[in-house]
Amino acid sequence: MKELIKTGSEKRTMAAAVLYGKSDVRIEQMPVPRIGKGEVLVRIKAALTCGTDLKTYRQGFHARMITPPSVFGHELSGVVEEVGEGVDGFAPGMRVVTANSGPCGECFFCRKNRANLCENLQFINGAYAEFIKIPESIVRRNLLILPDGVDFEEAAMVEPLACVLRAVEQTGIEKGDTVALIGTGPIGLMFVQTIKSLGARVIALDKETYRLNAAKLMGADHVLDPTRLNAVEQVRNLTDGNRGADFVIEAVGLKETWQQAMKMIRRGGTINLFGGCPSGTQIPLDSTLIHYSEITVRASFHHTPKHIRAALDAIHSGRFNAKSLITGRENLASLGSVLERLLNSTGDLKIAIIP
Ligand SMILES: [Zn+2]
Ligand SMILES: [Zn+2]
Repeated sequence: MKELIKTGSEKRTMAAAVLYGKSDVRIEQMPVPRIGKGEVLVRIKAALTCGTDLKTYRQGFHARMITPPSVFGHELSGVVEEVGEGVDGFAPGMRVVTANSGPCGECFFCRKNRANLCENLQFINGAYAEFIKIPESIVRRNLLILPDGVDFEEAAMVEPLACVLRAVEQTGIEKGDTVALIGTGPIGLMFVQTIKSLGARVIALDKETYRLNAAKLMGADHVLDPTRLNAVEQVRNLTDGNRGADFVIEAVGLKETWQQAMKMIRRGGTINLFGGCPSGTQIPLDSTLIHYSEITVRASFHHTPKHIRAALDAIHSGRFNAKSLITGRENLASLGSVLERLLNSTGDLKIAIIP
């Protein structure tokens, strides 16, 4: 009989955005998730729009993460509403930020310090809602308490920033290096700030003027529109002896820009192909370039618990200015029109969705 008795909490409903397909997002009422052992229920205070969400919205699904109808959105912060049995270190009322995934901590990759490649990586979606359930693997490794002075909107940037910090660390950029950065969307702008803080020089490329202006404001030394000039030549002209950039970071995720990256690099340089291309994309490799010029080609995917913490610390200490990337604030009901606006590149970077 017990399961037939409805308690107050079982009947609770919440508003959440549900993606039904291509450009079809609806705000619906649904039950507040119920939590079990080791889980935490978070009342969302801010969610941020992200390029991944835009892609998902435009195509109606995400190959790895979202099969519609589904809740979506993955950059969020909020307040602990409820904690499950056995949860240590969290209590209702605490301000928190969560990553969008949690590694198991035990598999081959986790033991090799590559938690971003964890075989059991568990993702969450549903940031565009009033509540979200945080599963045990995330509670244990990627749910962090917000220090005073970090507000919900800037905190929600921890996840994408962690990916960027990890990529910069892995690329090996140092003071005085010249970095060509292809793509100055929100992720590209995080690269600009992070690379500049190392004392390196940034040549930023993007086809949108407002994004180039933002890159300039965030410290890019040179900005170029690759559709108006020969980008490769321009980048080379800005380097010593026209040798090419010491590092190239591709933050777009297109075949053309991956190929462009290969042409801008100097001998012995390193390219980080950060932007993921549509699955199945193939690009030719210039064997002469790879071999005789000793080009290193690498890529960075996702984040680790260490970088999630580093990102929160960078925001908290003021080394990273998250607020400069948030260009608007809207309620949950406006999500559809916000996504449309972002797809039309009308000058916004990231929008905070406040449920
Ligand atoms: Zn994101
Ligand atoms: Zn693992």
